[in-house]
Amino acid sequence: MGKVIRVTIWNEFRHEKSQDRTGEIVRSIYPEGMHKTIGAELAAPDLEIRYATLDEPEHGLPDEVLNSTDVLIWWGHMAHGEVRDELVDKIQRRILSGMGLIVLHSGHFSKIFRRMMGTSCSLLWREVGEKERIWTVEPAHPIARGVPATFTLPNVEMYGERFDIPQDGRIIFLSWYEGGNVFRSGVAFERGHGRIFYFSPGHETYPIFKDENVIRIIGNAVRWAAPEDWYEISCPNSPAPEEIRTPDPNRK
Ligand code: ZN
Repeated sequence: MGKVIRVTIWNEFRHEKSQDRTGEIVRSIYPEGMHKTIGAELAAPDLEIRYATLDEPEHGLPDEVLNSTDVLIWWGHMAHGEVRDELVDKIQRRILSGMGLIVLHSGHFSKIFRRMMGTSCSLLWREVGEKERIWTVEPAHPIARGVPATFTLPNVEMYGERFDIPQDGRIIFLSWYEGGNVFRSGVAFERGHGRIFYFSPGHETYPIFKDENVIRIIGNAVRWAAPEDWYEISCPNSPAPEEIRTPDPNRK
């Protein structure tokens, strides 16, 4: 066996604590939070799993945690805006140096995913509990190892095209929904020295993170995204627009 992969599962962990009907439903499925279920389902000898949540100091990702994380899993939804930009800068730098990032479901609108993509990451959505059929379009890819050619999830939130992501993503899974929409539901990217995988299933009011195929895909993605080596990145951030704006010499 190779070296152990240090995985940190980050969950916004707000739906689970909310005192409304949705909170009750989410707690009934994920009593300790989605992150704990994902971690328990992923548990394996080659993974060392830690957890981090939004309301912890430094959002659960102080330097000593982030700098000892090989692969970061990210689930967020209602509080993307509360994630501090300095942390997003640090995560970006860590990814460019080699860290893997697995972005789940509504994490498509997280600051870190939008930062790494450079696009809006907008999509269509509809929540009526419809069926999703997922198709494996790259069965030879490591993320598809052991995943059937197609499988279904009985109740999901629909995420549909157009999904505003860059065109260099490798599409590993495609989804069809009962309502007729289609979606690039599993897409793999490389940014700097880091690998990024976006996977759309994972709406909080359905037990999607207990589905064996979903967990197999996330586990495969973790192992695919784990870095072999690290590379120092000196200056990952683009200058702010005002810093690169120069006077137009032809302007009167
Ligand atoms: Zn959702």
